[in-house]
Amino acid sequence: MPDPICPLCDRPIPADAPQSLHHLIPKLKGGKGGPTVLLHHICGIR
Ligand SMILES: [Zn+2]
Repeated sequence: MPDPICPLCDRPIPADAPQSLHHLIPKLKGGKGGPTVLLHHICGIR
């Protein structure tokens, strides 16, 4: 199974790298339980 691609930096996310699940829709706008994307942890900090 290939590594997932981080949509912020377009690079693969190795399984052993720190990862972060990022909600596409803010919870305030009803995004709770909505789609998420996998980012590098460092990409999701901002
Ligand atoms: Zn990234």
